[in-house]
Amino acid sequence: MSNINTKKLHNKVVFERCIGRKKGVKTYPSIIIFGGIHGNEQAGIHGLKKVIQNIDNENVKLNGNFYAIAGNLNALHKNIRFEVADLNRIWTDDHVNIINGSNKDLNPEEKEQSEIYHIIKEILATDKGPFYFIDLHTTSSETIPFITISDSLNNRRFARNFSIPVVLGIEEYLDGPLLTYINEYGHISLGFEAGQHNNPESIINCEAFIWQSLVTSGCIDKKEIKNYERYQQILISHSKHNGFYEIDFHYFLQDTEEFKMINGFNNFDNIQMQQVLALSNNIEVKANMNGQIFMPLYQKQGRDGFFIITRISRIWLQISAITRKLKLHHLLRLLPGIKQDPIYKYALIVNPRTAKFLTTKIFHLFGYRKKVVRDDKLHFIKRDRKVIEFNHD
Ligand SMILES: [Zn+2]
Repeated sequence: MSNINTKKLHNKVVFERCIGRKKGVKTYPSIIIFGGIHGNEQAGIHGLKKVIQNIDNENVKLNGNFYAIAGNLNALHKNIRFEVADLNRIWTDDHVNIINGSNKDLNPEEKEQSEIYHIIKEILATDKGPFYFIDLHTTSSETIPFITISDSLNNRRFARNFSIPVVLGIEEYLDGPLLTYINEYGHISLGFEAGQHNNPESIINCEAFIWQSLVTSGCIDKKEIKNYERYQQILISHSKHNGFYEIDFHYFLQDTEEFKMINGFNNFDNIQMQQVLALSNNIEVKANMNGQIFMPLYQKQGRDGFFIITRISRIWLQISAITRKLKLHHLLRLLPGIKQDPIYKYALIVNPRTAKFLTTKIFHLFGYRKKVVRDDKLHFIKRDRKVIEFNHD
């Protein structure tokens, strides 16, 4: 990877895969930060550029390695979310096998995915870790900054250092996000949503978050960073909804559905049962529960209409941490209707009747997330796992 930043050409910004790469004196940890996995979400790219420039200008000393990587270059140039396929929905084993194995013509996003895959693979093969992966995004609605993670204890521990809301388990509702794929290999991986796509504050929030991630991971000592407290303060100013949240409801758009969110919803706004949230083919869509609105869709591309979330109690977090540390999840397999997947050791295969009886929340408590329904059975995948080798060839 070269050290070339984005540059102006014919008054247009040219995006390049490697925004920056900084080597540390100690060689560990390694922190890999992506921006622009969605091409219309450019705040992350600008935030990464600013931090890299600042490291150069101020001669900031790093302990570990820092990689700043641009996501969907083609879509970034066109300022669109994606061209053919959402680059943050194609990170499944099946798909990665396709980009690695077949000779078929790859679509624009598959080409991007292939390049990113090989960069990740090279970093994991070269550096010794621990590895921290961060993916910077923005949203179509106004929002305070927040974090999304798969609910593993190592992700929780890292996310807790930032004074902003943390939303658990979004992967249960989305297929193939990049970070869920990386998480499967046991590495800490954390999504950051910085604010609304075009709000200049989103860039500032990204910058603050990148600096704090570099410090929290141990990649940079905070005394190396001029005005570090100012960056901390930026995120603290958004700490009103601080805490952990669970997704309770997902409104997914059908193929031909005409969907329009009612104007004026901001992320984390309280909503009441029966409140009208959107119009679907001109028919009112009402909330089916009390909670907080999450990621309401105010753009044309994308099929996630909105989510409803609720805050997770501190006691639930503590109990679930204890049950996992004691490895009590083994007890789940003793129950009728639940068996260990013979091939994939992190998966439980569950009879839907048992799942109904136990409720999904019990599986969440033990660190499992619902994944796919196959042959009439539910599959629950364990989020906590040891680091395993990243190898798909
Ligand atoms: Zn995004």
